[in-house]
Amino acid sequence: MREGVREVLAGPRQLIKQLHAIMAAPMAPQERLDRIARLIADNMVAEVSSLYILRADDVLELYATHGLNKSAVHSASLRLGQGLVGSVAKTAEPLNIQNPASDPRFAYLPETGEDIYNSFLGVPVLRAGRMIGVLTVQNRVPRRYDNEEMEALQTVAMVIAEIAGMGDLDSLAPAASLDIKRSQHASGILLAEGVGLGRAVLHEPRVLVTSLLTDDIDTELERLEAALSKVRGHLKAHLARDDVAREGEHRDVLEAFLLIAQDRGWARKMADVVSTGLTAEAAVERVQSDNRARLLRSTDRYVRERLTDFDDLANRLLRELQGRHGTALADVTGDAIIVARHMGAAELLDYDSERIRGIVLEEGSPASHVTLIARALGIPAVGQVTGVTSMIESGEAIIVDADGGDIHIRPSADVENVFAEKVRFRARRQARYKRLRHLPAVTTDGLNVSLSMNAGMLADMPHLAQSGAAGVGLFRTEILFMVANALPRFHAQERAYRQVIEAAGGKPIAFRTLDIGGDKILPYLPAAAEDNPAMGWRAVRLGLDRPGLMRMQIRALLAASGGRELRIMIPMVTTVAEFNAVRDLLSKEQRHLNEHGYTLPNQVKLGVMLETPALLFELDELLAVADFVSVGTNDLYQFFFAADRSNVRVAGRYDTMSRSFLRVLKQIADKCRAANVPVTVCGDLASRPMDALTLVALGFTHLSMPPAAIGPVKIAIRALNVGLLRARLEPKLEPGRSNDDLRHQIARLIDGQNIPV
Ligand code: PEP
Ligand code: MG
Repeated sequence: MREGVREVLAGPRQLIKQLHAIMAAPMAPQERLDRIARLIADNMVAEVSSLYILRADDVLELYATHGLNKSAVHSASLRLGQGLVGSVAKTAEPLNIQNPASDPRFAYLPETGEDIYNSFLGVPVLRAGRMIGVLTVQNRVPRRYDNEEMEALQTVAMVIAEIAGMGDLDSLAPAASLDIKRSQHASGILLAEGVGLGRAVLHEPRVLVTSLLTDDIDTELERLEAALSKVRGHLKAHLARDDVAREGEHRDVLEAFLLIAQDRGWARKMADVVSTGLTAEAAVERVQSDNRARLLRSTDRYVRERLTDFDDLANRLLRELQGRHGTALADVTGDAIIVARHMGAAELLDYDSERIRGIVLEEGSPASHVTLIARALGIPAVGQVTGVTSMIESGEAIIVDADGGDIHIRPSADVENVFAEKVRFRARRQARYKRLRHLPAVTTDGLNVSLSMNAGMLADMPHLAQSGAAGVGLFRTEILFMVANALPRFHAQERAYRQVIEAAGGKPIAFRTLDIGGDKILPYLPAAAEDNPAMGWRAVRLGLDRPGLMRMQIRALLAASGGRELRIMIPMVTTVAEFNAVRDLLSKEQRHLNEHGYTLPNQVKLGVMLETPALLFELDELLAVADFVSVGTNDLYQFFFAADRSNVRVAGRYDTMSRSFLRVLKQIADKCRAANVPVTVCGDLASRPMDALTLVALGFTHLSMPPAAIGPVKIAIRALNVGLLRARLEPKLEPGRSNDDLRHQIARLIDGQNIPV
């Protein structure tokens, strides 16, 4: 620490010390603001010091002043962008000028009597980068305020931001009229259906800095440096991990963090702020607030994305300084809406799912693991909500309207009532579905459709009874693997499958063998990075090349099903030869277990998932060897249309109700019927009532879907005259017929039957 710098800073430090005393003493909020205004004026030898606070209607209201007419407090105001104060608020940057009245931006407020002042310094009051207000000083004599004075005023602004955070300003105005309390709406994309009302829980909470000031600058500088080097060390170690090395997006984020963490400019700025007498934590927060305000104004998407990186990193640094890590799970109350930048499936499972009403992510895609888990647990989730972690604080009210991809932050009572009603409505509808659960899904002209559910965890199994599903049409075994900390060996797997089978109470389950590889990575199983993971070394390809894993799984399934029927389903099969190779493995395992005295299942059915176009052209040969078929429309869609299912830009580009796709589906249904091989549709298509009716009209009588979809699909089927729909639909698939907006035409046919879809 250079002595010269310390001397220069003695004045501002004095100010900060006195501020400390004002903050510690009990007093009314208005008095506290008045005393702060006076303290600033005294310390900076200024005639005027004023505080303006931004209201929700974009007006800056004078909240406190020393030097201007007192009667103007709570009556004088400026619009955002109007006058010098308004332009500080708009740009979020300090303004330091002489002869302000001649500045073109100057706006004269007669009630304040401020025309006689010849110097002006204004700084923004920012809380986590959000504009709260403006703090000013004015002098009669023309002068330029020096850097230290500007620093000091910014530090006071930070303290005022803390007062705002404590809720002290609310008592001076109707709370809803403050901008920081303003309701906000943000949009993202649907990850998991539903509506949830609750209180925000920041998954990686922003650390609130309460101790702002220090006398021991050297110690604070050392603490800052130590925390920085720890964070850099963690990032490097994390980047070196095998699994991270393969995860493209996650790795990019970490690399960006490391670049920022190693940036000397950033570190130096924080050290400079510590030198003014702030704690290391307060310095991190101050610099971050400035960064945020600057970057938030950028229209460049890349720059704005870096803001989140900066935020994350500043937060890591704060947690390091305070020795705190993550949200204390026990503190999560019963109506939590988890808000996070990104989140892994295992992290979600760390929470008590009974307490979670919703999830909001800045990242997240419909096919990510955390999405699968959220859906399985029935938790509404919205993803890709840009900047959400900095729009809300823990404990604030938030609504997740996942179906529309919307979130409402600090909703007004009216909005809250609307959504509370929506939740009640959904609950009533669920109750209606529940009443239907024992009724068959039979069309008005007598066709029986069997509805099963998709599952992936033991926690899903109670839905079997609640939804009235006929069985589990798709059990995604990889989810059991994805949430485990280490590869489950034979006995652990056998135990898990047995629990699932017992929970099914005799209803059939189609266990799909591991669909890992590509983008579904098991943290404990390193794999090489691939350019096109969806088309890479995944599922049965990996299973056949490294048969140890597949054999262990098949063996565990056989052992767990002793004395019962076992259905095994193979994902991502591309040739009949692959299917036959699995059949050979299965036979070997049956022999092996038999020799070791295990009770074998009384029947084993080996099925195939139809997910690749190549297999469509070997259907006859496939149907001669497969015991059953399940159409995985999610993958079949992506490979059929060459449209990556997890790339939001193209995932919804092509319509499943277009002529080409419907023809393929019809061909599958026809061939399976002719060959007398049972066929189910287990992709997401089957879960949307209108698409489900179309599938039934095409000839599918077994559908499998998430449990929550069974009620709506059943209601629709029970109102359908399938003969009529089929008679109208089939001609539309004939050669030469127009493909224009087939979805719309089908919707009209369904609507014509008055079916509630
Ligand atoms: C599918 O591809 O349609 C399917 C059901 O499997 P998953 O979604 O697990 O890939
Ligand atoms: Mg699939």
